[in-house]
Amino acid sequence: MKYISTRGDGEKVESAEAIIRGIASDGGLFVPTELPKVELHSIEALAELSYQARAEMILGKFLTDYTGGELKTCIEEAYGGDKFDSPRVAPVVRLGDRYVLELWHGPTSAFKDMALQLLPRLLRAALKKTGETSDIAILVATSGDTGKAALEGFKDVAKTRIAVFYPKEGVSRMQELQMITQTGQNAQVIAVEGNFDDAQSGVKQIFGDADLNAALRQKAIRLSSANSINWGRLAPQIVYYFSAYADMVRAGNIESGDAVHFVVPTGNFGNILAGYYAKRMGLPIGKLICASNKNNVLTEFLRTGVYDRNRALYQTISPSMDILISSNLERLLYHIGGGDTQKISAWMNELSAKGRYAADAAYLEKIQETFWADWTDDDAALDEIRSVYEAHNYVIDTHTAVAWRAADRYQNATGDQTPLAVVSTASPYKFNQSVLRALGKSADGDEFAMLDALAKINPAKIPAGLQNLRAAKVVHTKQCAKEQMKELVRQF
Ligand SMILES: *Cc1c(COP(=O)(O)O)cnc(C)c1O
Repeated sequence: MKYISTRGDGEKVESAEAIIRGIASDGGLFVPTELPKVELHSIEALAELSYQARAEMILGKFLTDYTGGELKTCIEEAYGGDKFDSPRVAPVVRLGDRYVLELWHGPTSAFKDMALQLLPRLLRAALKKTGETSDIAILVATSGDTGKAALEGFKDVAKTRIAVFYPKEGVSRMQELQMITQTGQNAQVIAVEGNFDDAQSGVKQIFGDADLNAALRQKAIRLSSANSINWGRLAPQIVYYFSAYADMVRAGNIESGDAVHFVVPTGNFGNILAGYYAKRMGLPIGKLICASNKNNVLTEFLRTGVYDRNRALYQTISPSMDILISSNLERLLYHIGGGDTQKISAWMNELSAKGRYAADAAYLEKIQETFWADWTDDDAALDEIRSVYEAHNYVIDTHTAVAWRAADRYQNATGDQTPLAVVSTASPYKFNQSVLRALGKSADGDEFAMLDALAKINPAKIPAGLQNLRAAKVVHTKQCAKEQMKELVRQF
């Protein structure tokens, strides 16, 4: 399996190379040249396997330049042992006639762990395979959850160092505490004055800075990205769609071959795009429902074909979705259009020059065969947290609430009774203040008082990673303006 750029520079690379580089040299994203098929009987066979074995099967189809042994080691280190606090890693829970795919059992309590536990290990193996002698410096712009998950994932991984930039006012206090208490020699955490898009565009500029890159190469350092544009982030996410489906068959919730809709709280379009890959590979996914918060640029795009980022970025109670540029959409357009790289380049150039592009009607029609979209404001999300709790004695976080509401709206609008799984992307304990407010509880006191208050009413236990923050020391206090990011990377 080879990988090429969405923007058509024509260069073909192996997956190891794509993972090392993160982004193609023409600024495009790496995509697989073909989409492997998985037959129904193979999907049924997954039902009897562990999550790790499921991952070996699915990832083996994409990362064909890795040996079976290399993949097995990486996967076991990422998901094995007690890394995840559920032995099923990504369990499916049934609540009434709806399903929940819980993706927050990893060390940082958000779905980013699903990919970021594996990526560093794939990267380490990739360096070895390609004979790359440079060290890798990972730059991350985070809207909250990626930062900590990347810091955890890269902790103690040889030949790597990692710098995380987060928007000072754009993450929850719990998310910030998780990051600024990170230990280890190879990590830096910096608060950027601005929003997530400022941090992300700052990182993108650094990647594109020829002088800086040349200077780093002289010191045998290569820049790479752990953002969701890296193929090594996306591929691991395909696995849990297969895994969830296999679990539903195994539990007798569905017959093998039945369609299931997935509702995905969406920001950078990475999670939901993995679902699209799974569908294209043959997994019987019906609709993929794209749920946004008030930053509803994707809702508009999926309804009208116009992508327009010329609008204010709102800060919401679901900060990991406070995004105006959903980078992975570029990959969807590539696959929808059968690889018309000229078109993608033109649209992406328009997006960076004017902040807007309009996809062709034929693209939109094809996209809408699979995707449905809706958005939810903060008040409605809070209502949803309360009503799910009242109905099921189950606490969802603010991001999952956005998806839950979109699921309601989809079913009300269409009357469609197809089984539907809400993809749950974070533990509610990461967003105590909003969740307590939603449940009509006092949200006074510090983060840990709130953690305890939520634990009193949530049947699920406080995750160890959050519990341990009580005693953790703050070790990262750097702040910078967007313009200073490059200089900090140079020093780092
Ligand atoms: C990152 C994140 C999202 C958005 O996922 P994308 O892949 O960027 O669309 C949603 N919810 C939570 C909790 C997240 O951390």
